Amino acid sequence: MPSLENLNASNLVIWDAHVHIGRFRDFYFDPRQVALDLIQLGVQRWIVSSTTLCEGVNSFEESLRELDIMESVAPGCAIPFLWVVPGMISQLEHYIDPRFQGLKVHGRAHRWPPNGIALQYIAKVADERNMPIKLHTGGQLRCDAGIYYKLCHSNPNTNFILAHGRPVDQALMVLKKCPNVFVDTAFMPINDVAFLVCNEMSDRIFFGSDYPLDQLFYPGESLKTRYQNFFKELQTVVPKNVFKNNLSRSLFE
Ligand SMILES: [Zn+2]
Repeated sequence: MPSLENLNASNLVIWDAHVHIGRFRDFYFDPRQVALDLIQLGVQRWIVSSTTLCEGVNSFEESLRELDIMESVAPGCAIPFLWVVPGMISQLEHYIDPRFQGLKVHGRAHRWPPNGIALQYIAKVADERNMPIKLHTGGQLRCDAGIYYKLCHSNPNTNFILAHGRPVDQALMVLKKCPNVFVDTAFMPINDVAFLVCNEMSDRIFFGSDYPLDQLFYPGESLKTRYQNFFKELQTVVPKNVFKNNLSRSLFE
């Protein structure tokens, strides 16, 4: 299998800003296998969060073990984001294990009032720890990209990633008004990515795949082939090398 590196001219690091491990419905995304797949694809660093935590705080220890497995297979490659679930709020600091480098909030899977005190509190904790926050967008009005404008705008020192950038016109509005906001391309239609590029947002787009969630929607297809095809397709609309290195520079420096 050709590595993604072969699709690119230089040797910069390829990041994937959106990867999952853990249990999800009837699926199990084996952290060992996910790490091996990404390495085989030529991805060097990835932001990962465990879907096991969707089930609630009782799954917390299990999610840490999954991260340890991934770390043992691919040392230093994974950048764990804590999937914050409502049951954590009263003791959020307790759950921010040193492994975590960012926080993830899923406003579709869980009811987080977009302008409520809980999200502002999460943003405050993230700010104190210099952590970026990834926000799932789309699928419900309560988590569409535009509804997070106030949250992003009122926390200018915190970087936010609008995962999926949905709907794209709202994502663009937030990007234009808030320099601390980025999108990832997980499950983004290619035309939406092209739209953001045309609006001069290239350096605010992170490559993200949602790997290996495609399993849910495209059973029987090769996930790795889908991954490569998506990456190749993105390269046709995004300036060369935009998906390399910018994630590290933008989020963690
Ligand atoms: Zn995801």
